[in-house]
Amino acid sequence: MLSEKLLNGLNEQMNFEFYSAHAYMAMAAYCSAEGLDGFANFFLVQAEEERFHAMKFYNFINALGERAVMTGFPSPNNEFTSVRDCFEKALAHEKEVTRRIYKLSDLALDEREHATMNFLKWFIDEQVEEESMFDTLIQKLKRIEGDSNSLFMLDNELAQRTFTPEP
Ligand code: MG
Repeated sequence: MLSEKLLNGLNEQMNFEFYSAHAYMAMAAYCSAEGLDGFANFFLVQAEEERFHAMKFYNFINALGERAVMTGFPSPNNEFTSVRDCFEKALAHEKEVTRRIYKLSDLALDEREHATMNFLKWFIDEQVEEESMFDTLIQKLKRIEGDSNSLFMLDNELAQRTFTPEP
């Protein structure tokens, strides 16, 4: 039996994943406005992933026989100074997600809630990949700073990203 505290935590994280999708939509819109459609595509795909994460929480809460509760959230940041700024803000955001997933895992562990611990394991692994992906792209952007040809090539590369949900 899930405690109310843990159920609230799962609901909160579901809503935070939806908020994450919103935050990445703002980054996509910035890149689009800058004429960088490949970067925009990258963030649109990222937003899809976040909605997929949110739905994993939604489905898990339902599977437990509990009820998902949708909440509102504050406006995400819409102010960016460069593409690199988007990625640095994205990495900071993912670090916050990781912190929240860890906190939730600690709670599940305290309550000996093995099903929830097992469910959260997927997200723990996912966060390692998310942080690494943003970190790699920040390194690339630092290396090509001021080189518009390379930026254009990276834009083309990121235009290829597609949404492929991992079960
Ligand atoms: Mg996520």
